[in-house]
Amino acid sequence: MRYKLACFDLDGTLADNVTSSWQLFHDYFRVDGRTGLMPGARFVLEHLKESGMRLALVSGSVNVVLDHLIPDHKKIFDHVHLTELFFDDKGRIADVNPTPFDMEGKAIALKNIAAKESIPLSQCVFVGDHHNDVHIARAAGLSIAFNSPIQQLRTASSIVIEGKDLRKILPYILIP
Ligand SMILES: [Mg+2]
Repeated sequence: MRYKLACFDLDGTLADNVTSSWQLFHDYFRVDGRTGLMPGARFVLEHLKESGMRLALVSGSVNVVLDHLIPDHKKIFDHVHLTELFFDDKGRIADVNPTPFDMEGKAIALKNIAAKESIPLSQCVFVGDHHNDVHIARAAGLSIAFNSPIQQLRTASSIVIEGKDLRKILPYILIP
C-alpha cells in the first residue's frame, strides 16, 4: 500500500453538520439528534483499519464529542489529539486540557505521530475541511479537502471531494 497512515479532522469531516466543535458540544448536551457522523464515516474508518493502515485523529474539538459519535474510538484510532474536558461527580466540568495541536499545531501533531510510527510523511494521508487544516494538509503526502468551502484549503490539498459522502475518499487512499 502506498499510504500507511490516515489522519482525520473531526468537526465537519467525521462529524456532520458542524463547523465548530462547541456547536456540537452544545447539541450533545441537548441531545436533539441534529448532529451525527458524516455519511460513510464508520465504513471508511473500519475499512482503512482492516486494510492495515494506522489511524489518527487531530482536532481542535473536544473529547465528549468524539466519545458521543464514536464510542469505541480507542479501538479505531491509534493516536488522538483533541481538547479534553474532565467532569466531577455531579457532571460539572472540573478541568480542561486544551489541545496544543490546532491550526499550525495540527501539522506538528502529524509530524510527531509519523515519527512515532516510523512512517514518512509522504505515506501519510490527511482529510479535513477548514481553515485550521491548511498547514497539516501541506505536511501530508496526500491531503484531501472534504466538502470544504475554504479556497485556501482546496488549493493546498492534493484532492478535493465535493459533497458529504466520506466513502468518496477511499479510491484515492487505497492505492497498491
Ligand atoms: Mg473541521
